[in-house]
Amino acid sequence: MKTTLKTDLTVADICEGFEFDKAENKGLFGWSGRLTIQPEYQRNYLYADANMETAVIDSILRGYPIGLLYFNRVGGRYEVLDGQQRITSLGRYIKNLFPIKDEGGHQQYYKSLAKNLQDLILQTPLTIYICEGTEDEIKAWFKTINIAGIALNAQEISNSVYSGSFVTLAKAEYSNSQNYRQTMWRSYVRGNLQRQEILQVALSWVVKSSEREAIDDYMSRHRHDDNIDELKNYFDGVIHWVETTFPEVYDEMCGLEWGRLYETYHGNSYDAAELKAEIEKLYEDDAVTDKRGIFEYVLGGGTEPKLLHVRFFEESVKKSAYARQKKIAEQIGKSNCPLCAQGGGRNAKKIWKYSEMDADHVEAWSRGGASTADNCQMLCKVHNRAKGNF
Ligand SMILES: [Zn+2]
Repeated sequence: MKTTLKTDLTVADICEGFEFDKAENKGLFGWSGRLTIQPEYQRNYLYADANMETAVIDSILRGYPIGLLYFNRVGGRYEVLDGQQRITSLGRYIKNLFPIKDEGGHQQYYKSLAKNLQDLILQTPLTIYICEGTEDEIKAWFKTINIAGIALNAQEISNSVYSGSFVTLAKAEYSNSQNYRQTMWRSYVRGNLQRQEILQVALSWVVKSSEREAIDDYMSRHRHDDNIDELKNYFDGVIHWVETTFPEVYDEMCGLEWGRLYETYHGNSYDAAELKAEIEKLYEDDAVTDKRGIFEYVLGGGTEPKLLHVRFFEESVKKSAYARQKKIAEQIGKSNCPLCAQGGGRNAKKIWKYSEMDADHVEAWSRGGASTADNCQMLCKVHNRAKGNF
């Protein structure tokens, strides 16, 4: 890759003809149309959220350097490799799209700044490296840079490495704040749209893995596709299944591994009304400490109570059950584990220590048994594990 240093351009030159696309939240062009500010492998504009764009303007006004910019030369045109966010901050400020705070704490849009400060901004020279190289060279280099401030996440890097028609279409669907279809999945999928987290979820569902390698493999195979039908159909299918299986929406549904749950359970048939009744019951049960586990628990037919992180007996309840059993056991000369006592083996008369026993529900929790003193018995660890049910 060949690089040339360029120091004769100013903020005014680069921001000439600056366009910002509000719908897509990105800077489009600068330098009188010669410069593409956000090529496909760049992420959407993040400085506004991160409150960093005012810092760029403050730096210029104080005479601090804003750092090196890297452009990639493609034929007679240029793309921003590194510096998109700083250039977009400058362009947005000059277009009066956000104010800064002056030393007196007052908001100042560009148009309200004193003329000498406006000129100071416009005439600030920029330090730019112009790069020329093959696509692979540029992308390999791009993958290694970490733009000061906010590092690229794994999906953003994959979007740059596999940029092409597939990524463009996938971003239009899953990273586009103007896409009305978002309302379809907002209750079930959690993630930051702009940081490509929704796209990452959609990809992980269709490849049935959240491993980066599997996602990259899929992106690489579909890189030049002219549609995202498979991705979209699969994603929509999962959402549709969730909606019909659970017509009522609960906050805890957001961000669950619906792709995995769909794969595991969509072949079963469920009665939505029955599921709903069960869910309501579990929501009301104070012993269920992880409400997020409820959905997989009911899909699995109630066989995995550990999904619910059920809170069992209080320490005081266990201690009093232990004392009660030990007292009786010593009186009748048998083990304080009722199952050891019954079994008649070598532990039939063994008095276990408190630390060697676990609490058990006489009537299983999954069959309605409460976590109260009258439903608590202490068993030795071996018998408690063997009994196994909740
Ligand atoms: Zn025992």
